[in-house]
Amino acid sequence: MAVTRTFSIIKPDATRRNLTGAVTKMLEEAGLRVIASKRVRMSREQAEGFYGVHRERPFFNDLVGFMVSGPVVVQVLEGEDAVAANRRVMGATNPENADEGTIRKAFAESIEANTVHGSDSEENAATEIAFFFSEDEIIG
Ligand code: ATP
Ligand code: MG
Repeated sequence: MAVTRTFSIIKPDATRRNLTGAVTKMLEEAGLRVIASKRVRMSREQAEGFYGVHRERPFFNDLVGFMVSGPVVVQVLEGEDAVAANRRVMGATNPENADEGTIRKAFAESIEANTVHGSDSEENAATEIAFFFSEDEIIG
């Protein structure tokens, strides 16, 4: 395995409850290192672009509305097999199905307000990182 990067969002349900540190602690304890981080308020256009693959899904409008409902923290994470390591510590999309010890089990409110986003492939990670960060903002 190799050290790779992934992209994470701490979603508005988590920033609203002041859980940025608690979520980040779980990411770090899972072996991931935060090599870039910023708190942003996504515009509707950004959220629609970011979740463009879900445009045809019935929950798309609600999801976009949720993602712009408050600040988010976007992060680049680095570690051994970072995409998979992050998906493991995130837990299942629906917190009802999330394993003990995962971020979504600990904190998610619902399938929509599920505390974190994590890239699902290295290819998407690269695209998503470039969506929010320039290379000089990433300090490995
Ligand atoms: P993410 O992409 O946010 O890391 P994920 O990969 O686990 O989550 P996706 O299938 O990519 O899940 O869905 C993207 C997001 O859309 C989910 O995190 C969730 O917030 C929302 N979502 C997914 N399915 C539903 C649903 N059935 N109803 C409402 N919202 C949903
Ligand atoms: Mg996804």
